[in-house]
Amino acid sequence: MGAGTAVRIGLGRDLHRLAEGRPFLLAGVKIPAPRGELGHSDGDALAHAVIDAFLGAAALGDIGELYPPQDPAWRDADSMELLRRAWERVKAGGWKLAGLDCVVICESPKILPYRETIREALALALNADRETVFIKGKTGEGLGPLGRGLAVETEAVCLLEKIP
Ligand code: MG
Repeated sequence: MGAGTAVRIGLGRDLHRLAEGRPFLLAGVKIPAPRGELGHSDGDALAHAVIDAFLGAAALGDIGELYPPQDPAWRDADSMELLRRAWERVKAGGWKLAGLDCVVICESPKILPYRETIREALALALNADRETVFIKGKTGEGLGPLGRGLAVETEAVCLLEKIP
């Protein structure tokens, strides 16, 4: 990162209820679990947090503006497809991903066995090296709706760098 290089930080978070009969998806990676995310789209809470992080960094709006939940066009939408579309806008603004770090909070499933697959999926979608992307799992320590396994919460922070 050279002197005078423009960088922008972005933050995103999301929360989805978990329900039986739904797939548990993180950045498009389907993880075996008794319950999955409820949502108007496919409910991919990690994809949604990441979208809000990079849109915020580029000051290009938020996921609810781009893909309103009232719009039937986005019913059961593939969130990684939404992510790729949103990322196209950011790229068109001359930005590239310098770093992305994420947290997934849920009582189960465990995230670690899927970490590398998820990093790969996000890096591929964001035209970045896998070293640029990280993700970690936390539990709710048995407390509240997260700890009771009723929901999954996600957080993402990203750094964008202006392509000279
Ligand atoms: Mg969401």
